[in-house]
Amino acid sequence: MKTSFKFKDIHSCDAVVLTCIDFRFWRETLEFVEKELDIKTFDFPSLPGAAKAINDCLSDGDLAFQCIGVPCELHHAKKIVIVNHEDCGAYGGSGKFDGDQDAEQKFHEEELWRAKAKLIDKYPGKEYILVYARLADEGEKIDFLKI
Ligand SMILES: [Zn+2]
Repeated sequence: MKTSFKFKDIHSCDAVVLTCIDFRFWRETLEFVEKELDIKTFDFPSLPGAAKAINDCLSDGDLAFQCIGVPCELHHAKKIVIVNHEDCGAYGGSGKFDGDQDAEQKFHEEELWRAKAKLIDKYPGKEYILVYARLADEGEKIDFLKI
């Protein structure tokens, strides 16, 4: 299959969006970033747990750091977006929170803040956008919340 290469001779993008690998969320995350955040060019690494992957990093060469480092250093990304989501298997799922959606959201907010704090040392001067994808309407909808 041959298709047109829209980004020929373009080597910069606006952002890096780190999201979870979960198949239930990434398509909608893509749509949220393009439509709601109005970010059109971005690297889109996915790792289990998103913020968790950053928080679990022990040294500079770790994969999750590279997923942020390459976009920032090679592609000149100015924005760093991290998207965590409800019922994330990497964190043990919603079961851990006994159906308390607010407690689960608070936990993920703290995870997102922790990841930002970890990254800001390496990449100051970037715009950080932290997002939590919360299930709404009895699990029929995904509500993307900026934290
Ligand atoms: Zn997940």
